[in-house]
Amino acid sequence: MNIPEPSNFIQEIIVNDLKTGKRSSVHTRFPPEPNGYLHIGHAKSICLNFATAKKFDGLTNLRFDDTNPTKEEIEYVDSIREDVSWLGFDWGDREYYASDYYEQIYDFAEQLILKGHAYVCELKGEAVSAHRGTHTEPGKNSPWRDRPVAESLDLFRRMRAGEFEEGSCFLRAKIDMAHPNMNMRDPAVYRIKKASHHRTGDKWCIYPMYDFAHPLSDWIEQITHSICTLEFEAHRPLYDWFLEALELKNRPQQIEFARLNLTYTMMSKRRLLELVQNNVVMGWSDPRMPTLSGLRRRGYSPSSIREFCDRIGVAKADSMVDINLLYFCIREELNATAQRAMAVLDPIKVVIDNWEEGRFEEIEVENNPGDLSQGTRQILFGRELYIERDDFMEEPPKKYFRLRPDGEVRLKGAYFVKCVRVDKDAEGNILEIHCTYDPASRGGESPDGRKVKGTIQWVSVPHAVNAEVRLFNHLFTVEDPANTPEDKVWLDFLNPNSMLTCQAKLEPMMAQATMSDRYQFMRLGYFCLDSEKSKEGGLVFNRTVELKDSWAKAQPK
Ligand code: ATP
Ligand code: MG
Repeated sequence: MNIPEPSNFIQEIIVNDLKTGKRSSVHTRFPPEPNGYLHIGHAKSICLNFATAKKFDGLTNLRFDDTNPTKEEIEYVDSIREDVSWLGFDWGDREYYASDYYEQIYDFAEQLILKGHAYVCELKGEAVSAHRGTHTEPGKNSPWRDRPVAESLDLFRRMRAGEFEEGSCFLRAKIDMAHPNMNMRDPAVYRIKKASHHRTGDKWCIYPMYDFAHPLSDWIEQITHSICTLEFEAHRPLYDWFLEALELKNRPQQIEFARLNLTYTMMSKRRLLELVQNNVVMGWSDPRMPTLSGLRRRGYSPSSIREFCDRIGVAKADSMVDINLLYFCIREELNATAQRAMAVLDPIKVVIDNWEEGRFEEIEVENNPGDLSQGTRQILFGRELYIERDDFMEEPPKKYFRLRPDGEVRLKGAYFVKCVRVDKDAEGNILEIHCTYDPASRGGESPDGRKVKGTIQWVSVPHAVNAEVRLFNHLFTVEDPANTPEDKVWLDFLNPNSMLTCQAKLEPMMAQATMSDRYQFMRLGYFCLDSEKSKEGGLVFNRTVELKDSWAKAQPK
């Protein structure tokens, strides 16, 4: 095989393994626990595992790490499958479950006992922690540590047979209670849990610990490089210890990388679940959530997320990524592909006094000024129009180039109009803005060289399509809500204005909007139909991202 050049430290390890003959192929896995929906952090891990294997002509398994029966559900399994394929990755027929290996893993545990590497301990709760010691003090040996192998084996089999209560005993590895790494102080291998599992039902009442099940699952699948996040670094000696104690050949190698943290959001499944359960958001796929289903509903494409994962790269030190980089990736893509449309989110009516009632004219506008191959469309222009409320000011500041009394503005693709009068109600609220248009400015071209700086969008009143439009803001008000001052909790930093709903007026073609299309509402951002609401038949749009690019601007030239 022609070994490609490495482009990060993980690939360097792989290249070295292939060159020295330690490995002849590459096999990775993505091992989600089905206890929540996948988020953008998981996308980093998915891209990394699949892309790395692919680069070296290898394979990637999807493995559900389902060793905790109480928190796992089929709903999560299904959503994970959907999200990984949506992201564009194919695990072929290699969909595995740690629970499929329970029998094998159990046998390995018996072998550990037989080799003198594990024992059944009857210490309970508090006593277990008291024996473990601290970071500065060594632990104490369990009184059951040196019980005969045959006794541990017998007890372990009876644990499996359901003879004991939860918490009355557990199987633990016999390593070193004074080990400087706390994970090596005779860690638990199996515990009693009288809970039904979503796949194995009531077959088991003992379940393997993650630290035991994971290296064995990797070994059973003949994974070569077991890529995981940095918090498992201190577990690596244990990962290796189990494989070595069981004298297994062709051992997988665990390699850690820094997890993705993103500003103004949260990557903890436990906390995301809390938001869902407390109805703080509209479910796991709420467009404000950092979940893949949320991003999908928000209008993100798989390619924009892959691009984002590519740009952030892989490192060995934890860091925080600016969420604006994610916005940048989707904006770049939508700028090239999105169909342009005119929309008014907060409408106010304009009446053109010198335009005949009942007369309409077709105006031609481009579908994408950056890509003329996307063609043009015709929109009807008439006497009554909607414009954005804040595109008019009675007493504007300097450098306000939109509509003002006696001022002139260009209506996109149509004409110059000049404000001649404002109608108000008794409280002084504006009801209508009256204008006149200049017939010589057709197409928005200046007839005589006079300058009109402002161009605003408009929607014809009798042709307007009503829609609900939702604008989103960060879910949290601080960059790192997971790291809050002591007197606060993360929920204190929820942004109460993370979603704003408008009753908008859209140009006629938006009545035929489709789920697969993406739109740029002129001057307002990129939008897509909401997948949930449109199932109900309503016209509801989500803003994917604003037009303004605060990420690229902040980068040093
Ligand atoms: P849990 O606390 O439930 O274990 P988790 O986020 O670690 O949460 P897993 O389902 O165990 O969820 O994760 C599957 C894989 O995704 C693991 O290999 C994990 O290391 C990786 N992963 C999880 N979060 C991130 C993240 N923020 N950035 C990169 N990879 C991640
Ligand atoms: Mg995990």
